Amino acid sequence: MRTGKYGGRVWTRFPPEPNGYLHYGHAKSICLNFGLAAENGGRCNLRFDDTNPVKEDVEFEESIAHSVRWLGFDWGEHRYHASDYYDLLYRFAEWFIEQGLAYVESQSADEMRAARGTLTEAGRASPYRGRGVEENLALFRRMRAGEFGDGAHVLRLKIDMASPNINMRDPAIYRIRHASHHRTGDKWCIYPLYDYTHCISDALERITHSICTLEFQDHRPLYDWVIERLAEGGLLERPLPQQYEFARLNLTYVVLSKRKLIQLVRDGHVDGWDDPRMPTLVGARRRGFTPEGFRLFAERIGVSKSDSWIDMSVLEDCMREDLNARAQRRIAVLDPVKLVIDNYPAGQSEECFAPNHPQQPELGKRALAFGRELLIEREDFAEHPPKGYFRLSPGAEVRLRYAFVVRCTGFEKDGEGNVTVVHCTYDPDTKSGTPGADARKVKGNIHWLSAEHARQAEVRLYDRLFSTPFPGSSAPAASAVNHAPEQGHSMLAGDDDTDPGEAAERSFIDDLNPLSKRVIRAFVEPALAGAAAEDRFQFERHGYFVADLADHRADAPVFNRAVTLRDSWGKSG
Ligand code: ATP
Ligand code: MG
Repeated sequence: MRTGKYGGRVWTRFPPEPNGYLHYGHAKSICLNFGLAAENGGRCNLRFDDTNPVKEDVEFEESIAHSVRWLGFDWGEHRYHASDYYDLLYRFAEWFIEQGLAYVESQSADEMRAARGTLTEAGRASPYRGRGVEENLALFRRMRAGEFGDGAHVLRLKIDMASPNINMRDPAIYRIRHASHHRTGDKWCIYPLYDYTHCISDALERITHSICTLEFQDHRPLYDWVIERLAEGGLLERPLPQQYEFARLNLTYVVLSKRKLIQLVRDGHVDGWDDPRMPTLVGARRRGFTPEGFRLFAERIGVSKSDSWIDMSVLEDCMREDLNARAQRRIAVLDPVKLVIDNYPAGQSEECFAPNHPQQPELGKRALAFGRELLIEREDFAEHPPKGYFRLSPGAEVRLRYAFVVRCTGFEKDGEGNVTVVHCTYDPDTKSGTPGADARKVKGNIHWLSAEHARQAEVRLYDRLFSTPFPGSSAPAASAVNHAPEQGHSMLAGDDDTDPGEAAERSFIDDLNPLSKRVIRAFVEPALAGAAAEDRFQFERHGYFVADLADHRADAPVFNRAVTLRDSWGKSG
């Protein structure tokens, strides 16, 4: 990106509209804006683009600010609102009128639309385009004073009704809206529109690189036109900000449009905005995803000028990679069956030691109680083992991880044929960590908990919210999905910008994954009950889990599955 005209200064901004919760797509934009500033010793402003009084709320602002901080970024004292500039924006609008560069339009919205023309056909001038400066000023002031109803007039820039770019055909910049604004209250009944507000806000904040998504590419001439005129008039300082576009994040197995996310919450398909399955940042946090994982993801997918789809597995792999490095290991038995060691003395117990992290010995070990009655996973025993099954079955030997080698001697079933108890004997000379323990080679290695010491926990097994990669539409060409991350490259590389396949829409609701949430009663090692909310762990052989932010308590532990150890979607789906 060119930084020459700014003397190496890189000031960016992240400009969310406070009308909802941030999603994974915003995380890409946040990492890009804050990351670019940080790499260049610059700064990034948090600016709430609050020009639509009806849909916005302080509650959203706080959640947004919190999510940006959660991702690890800091705007310092540079927290702004587009509404901070309402007075100036109004003054500049009067200036445009005085220069003969804006006029009050009194046609209806429909009439304006009909006269706007098409891509191949020029627009037609409005009958009000020739209004004189005095009349325009007087009308605009009366608009501000509240003399007209919503929609009676708008203020338009006078640019070029024949421009090949429809955005330049006298765009509206102010509209009447008799509505209270969450920050300015009832001070205004006219509100500036996005294209006019955004470029001026950038210029007032001395932004250098105004980064936005590709659909604003066609708005760039308008962006430049507005601030160029104001700079020529001495109302804005140079150098002016420059707009750069990048491809928005499209992710498979999820939806990122605000409208669809609202529908999921409103119709009860999920348990609120922070449901761990929601692609919101509040949901991600509850899911056990990490800020570092998102930053890794943003780096890995890079920035490009061509729209494409990123496969969900890329994000999940980033989370696995980060969690693998930082999460301590713990034992949980999710679907228990009892294992009785018949030659282990009743009433006796001893300690076995398990490393907290296999690659980080400095994190130490913890003691696990071992005894005659244990819990193991039901699927770690097979009455009739299939070929290649190396776990417990009649006559077979396995190592109980961090403990002894045991041999299965029998099992019991209930009236319905379900296995209720597995019996075995242990070899006291094979305790892990004691001399000669490794001499005994067995193929299987399973985890276990002492039945007496294990604690009950609620475990919420979350999976992808949708069971198809493109919810609600048929697939774009498979080649359009990036499974392997591409190398990040410059936004100015100038590659093509094709649109993602916009297919006819069925209801995305039909594609919800019925197994996206399963709640089970499981058993966990005692240390896990003492976990603090949001502590993340690897449950050995199962995946990464987090103590639930809202519901986890020492006397009623609750864990959410963030992600399994391996991707099971690539093969089956
Ligand atoms: P919607 O259009 O669904 O209401 P939005 O994208 O307009 O949402 P904003 O709050 O206006 O939401 O977005 C704030 C910033 O985040 C903008 O700069 C926008 O470009 C960026 N952004 C939004 N969605 C994505 C996405 N999917 N990928 C990358 N950046 C995004
Ligand atoms: Mg927007």
